[in-house]
Amino acid sequence: MVMRDRITIIEGDITRQTVDAIVNAANTTLLGGGGVDGAIHRAAGPELLEECRGLGGCPTGQAKLTRGYRLPAKWVIHTVGPVWHGGRHGEDDLLANCYRSCFALASAHDLRSIAFPSISTGAYRFPFERAGRIAVRETQQFLAVNSTVEKVAFVCFGQAAYVSYRQILEELIG
Ligand code: ADP
Repeated sequence: MVMRDRITIIEGDITRQTVDAIVNAANTTLLGGGGVDGAIHRAAGPELLEECRGLGGCPTGQAKLTRGYRLPAKWVIHTVGPVWHGGRHGEDDLLANCYRSCFALASAHDLRSIAFPSISTGAYRFPFERAGRIAVRETQQFLAVNSTVEKVAFVCFGQAAYVSYRQILEELIG
């Protein structure tokens, strides 16, 4: 399948996605938070928090896998994005590492479909377009060398996010 057909952009709620794994933009404790993290924990049910308690947190840029419990997705990949501090504190590389870590887990577990929220662009204030370009670039680089992951979805929360992602995808992939 050509690259462009393996990447989809969806406007909606990531907790509703029927994919092998959804990605959670978590914090280093992995014990739940606001934004997409809160939504995922609410939809998955208390068993998710129980499993997360046993993981011992997660450093920024890395990722850990849990089951999805009551979610339609079988797995949740929890990753911790960088907090934006102006862009000169390694934010770009740390965000790229999040995507790489998620893809490494997806590949190791033979996952075929994965849905991402826009990591770090909510409470962590990473500029949306800059984050989107990193997300698309890392996805493109991963898909070029991997054939087990068939579909990567970017789930955009709101129309502005959707329009922005479409533009980035057109710009970077065509
Ligand atoms: P972070 O702390 O990494 O910035 P947030 O959860 O605050 O994480 O925001 C990350 C992105 O997720 C934001 O762009 C936000 O609009 C989006 N978001 C929030 N809830 C959902 C949801 N249910 N589905 C998809 N995206 C969501």
